[in-house]
Amino acid sequence: MKFNTKAIHGGQENIDPAYGSVMPPIYQTTTYSQSTPGGHKGFEYSRSGNPTRSALERAIASIENGNYGMAFGSGLAAIDAIIKLLKSGDEVISTNDLYGGTYRLFTSIFEDFGIKFRFIGMQNADKIDEYVTDKTKLIWVETPTNPMMNIIDIKKAAAIAKKNNVLLAVDNTFATAYLQRPLDLGADIVMHSATKYLGGHSDVVMGTLAVKDKELADKLYFVQKASGGIAGPQDSFLVLRGLKTLHVRMQRHCENGKKVAEYLSTHPKIEKVYWPGFKDHPNYDIAKEQMDNFGGMLSFTTKGNSYDEAIKIVENLKVFTLAESLGGVESLAGHPASMTHASIPKEDREKTGVVDSLIRLSVGIEDADDLIADLKQAIG
Ligand SMILES: *Cc1c(COP(=O)(O)O)cnc(C)c1O
Repeated sequence: MKFNTKAIHGGQENIDPAYGSVMPPIYQTTTYSQSTPGGHKGFEYSRSGNPTRSALERAIASIENGNYGMAFGSGLAAIDAIIKLLKSGDEVISTNDLYGGTYRLFTSIFEDFGIKFRFIGMQNADKIDEYVTDKTKLIWVETPTNPMMNIIDIKKAAAIAKKNNVLLAVDNTFATAYLQRPLDLGADIVMHSATKYLGGHSDVVMGTLAVKDKELADKLYFVQKASGGIAGPQDSFLVLRGLKTLHVRMQRHCENGKKVAEYLSTHPKIEKVYWPGFKDHPNYDIAKEQMDNFGGMLSFTTKGNSYDEAIKIVENLKVFTLAESLGGVESLAGHPASMTHASIPKEDREKTGVVDSLIRLSVGIEDADDLIADLKQAIG
């Protein structure tokens, strides 16, 4: 099956043997009757397995070209499960330009458990090799990154991981499996905040993982069951429903993202637009190679780099909603310096490009003309 067919049908054969319902029922149950101890139909207790969650987990595996999927209560719960594969003393090499919540989980929780994280720039992926030691167990890549839209070469990272016999995990939240399939590029684990594009309607918080390898899958299923950060049946249903339109939504996100990026790049008040589809993006060639299109996420700065002007722009927007998060059908705008990155000291955030005037857009699937008109009136 090709991608669009998989988004709708992947892993969904014989979904309801009882009545043939086209969507899986929401199995809102904690437990399952047994005819004799151990005599059950594949499910015993909903922390270890639930049919609605399983339907979603098979769909996730299918779109990522994996063999096994897992759904968790949030993107961070999914990342938490990956780090729990490690032991005290192990080291992780992570990109330095990563989602703030991931950074917080690594440094404020897992460092206290004796796991060491090295945060490095990965725009030149060859560099990763220099940081591998005999204690390194995992390489953590996020691409494109938030909010600077940096691109990391997954194939190169995978080659370094293989050579050194360490795992490579990729946070695929921004690109989604529609644009980028890390397992095919050699990654061992692909992770999603399904809260974003997979759910797609800003109505559910969830995380997912997909892997090819059975042994790795068994370890992750064990963590899922033993730590218990599972996705509930209602939320699993919602994300499964979201997945069925992922390809059409992403197609429009990409079209609108391109139009908005191009509009902003010609605006006299705009200093710079960060979007991987521009030929002068430092890693345009890698983006073109590993992604099928460039997505609907972009950031921009204004000339003069005024904090107050940026605040005024995001306040003036009417079609774009000023809010955290991304990936829903509706367009959102954020001001990282005062919102998502406010806790990072000004000097540190500016080093990574998060300057006072930076505005991040999650371009939705409304009419592009309306989005552009909204930006025009807000920027002035
Ligand atoms: C939102 C996000 C996360 C965290 O996911 P939650 O579902 O909010 O826990 C991780 N990585 C990226 C890139 C994200 O955008």
